Amino acid sequence: MTAPTTSPCPTALRTGIASIPTGLLIGGRWREAVGGKVFEVENPATGEVLAAVADASPADGDAALAAAVAAQPSWARTAPRQRSEILRRAYDLVMARQDWLAEVMTSEMGKPLAEARGEVAYAAEFLRWFSEEAVRISGDHTTTGDGANRIIVTREPVGPCVLITPWNFPLAMGTRKIAPAVAAGCTMVLKPAPQTPLTSLALAVILQESGLPEGVLNVVNTTDAAAVVERWMASGKARKVSFTGSTGVGKVLLRQAAETVMRSSMELGGNAPFIVCADADLDTAVDGAMAAKMRNMGEACTAANRMYVHRDIAAAFSQRLAARMAALKVGNGLDDETEVGPLIDAAGRAKVQRLVDDALQRGATALTGGRLPDGPGYFYPPTVLADVSGDSELMTTEVFGPVAPVIPFDDEDEVITLANDTDWGLVGYLFTQDIDRAFDLSERLEVGMVGVNTGVVSNPAAPFGGVKQSGLGREGGKVGIDEFLEYKYLAVPRRKGH
Ligand code: NAP
Repeated sequence: MTAPTTSPCPTALRTGIASIPTGLLIGGRWREAVGGKVFEVENPATGEVLAAVADASPADGDAALAAAVAAQPSWARTAPRQRSEILRRAYDLVMARQDWLAEVMTSEMGKPLAEARGEVAYAAEFLRWFSEEAVRISGDHTTTGDGANRIIVTREPVGPCVLITPWNFPLAMGTRKIAPAVAAGCTMVLKPAPQTPLTSLALAVILQESGLPEGVLNVVNTTDAAAVVERWMASGKARKVSFTGSTGVGKVLLRQAAETVMRSSMELGGNAPFIVCADADLDTAVDGAMAAKMRNMGEACTAANRMYVHRDIAAAFSQRLAARMAALKVGNGLDDETEVGPLIDAAGRAKVQRLVDDALQRGATALTGGRLPDGPGYFYPPTVLADVSGDSELMTTEVFGPVAPVIPFDDEDEVITLANDTDWGLVGYLFTQDIDRAFDLSERLEVGMVGVNTGVVSNPAAPFGGVKQSGLGREGGKVGIDEFLEYKYLAVPRRKGH
């Protein structure tokens, strides 16, 4: 297995994929899994097998954590500028290979190339942002109230980290964790999702080329996540877990973290309300709905899951949205004209169809879509459901697909009650032209982020994260690095008589 050495990378996709190492990255070396076990990576648009990737056993996982633990002391002592420059080089390399990385991602995950290029740029921004933050880690210096002691507060890396990422944004969810960990001086074991290992492996190569020392980043792909990760969590050696994925798995990890009292950051599921007030600009609201619903084919934690539209404009909004959704070109993401790619796998698509069927049986009308297409690939048509009943299962379940359920409402108190009637609280969207209403309703929404007259909230400079069962902690922004740092306070008595 060899790493790509040329930049820019080959444009021929298959050549490009062939250049990605398929092993486990442990202690700076690419290795096979114990017993030579591998698993296959599939293109969800065609079913084509793209690669066979090493399938780590718990013993491989243990070796990876040992490498991270061994590298931690010297990595913690590196100069912030050195860590900063590694990240900055990685940013430059990711951007130089934007098209190639986008093709790899589209091949294994399905999103259209244009979106994949956008994700590469978004992911790269975390490398650049945290390269800038690495040299700004600061502490505090003060005196006790009685003037007898100095209080010196320093920041230290939390220690070896367990990073677990999902398949829906395979590059950005990686850099959103790796970059602050590198900036803070932490080592790490990364377990990517098994549907999308190639993007993570390509990123690991870039970080190696950028000068990241051996053992700082260890990459462990596996089809046995529960066993591999449980040992990391129980080891007492890993000091932090940062997870992005479903709320169910997040709760399992939090229980495990309790046993060794590990620092935990959780970016979990969502059930985003999208509220369109009667005074909203309809064009802006429909644009926002397209962005909030159709980004990543609806396979996003930030996806608008419930569209509450004031009754006076619900029909007009639904019709315009249905027209825009029906006009989208569905197809293989590698085709430049494709606007909507396939869903990730058969199980993901079956869940979407089940939720749509349930809503239709409870009285909703499909203005467009709603039926499974024939043919290969896990495609699902963009779908708008009007007059969705409040007891439909998709009101309480993350649909994770291109389905927009529209529910009319009559007054603000009613819509805030409906919006907050969920265990989740990641993001909400609000459309109104009245600034007082915008602030008032934003404050009443139980969420970590609000898009006001916009369907996009994600930005590396902003603190991303949720409340309630959508998670703990924030990624990005000024606070993103805090998740990887501990405080240490030195009590130093002042000399008496001076
Ligand atoms: P998932 O099933 O929870 O899986 C996420 C990751 O956890 C995968 O790498 C998975 O590997 C691993 N995993 C599963 N069981 C595990 C266990 N017992 N111990 C350790 N790791 C385990 O979620 P997903 O289906 O990949 O992703 C979709 C979910 O992620 C949605 O709920 C979405 O809202 C959420 N998400 C949240 C954010 C955010 O920032 N809040 C961003 C993106 C996605 P295996 O697949 O091998 O089990």
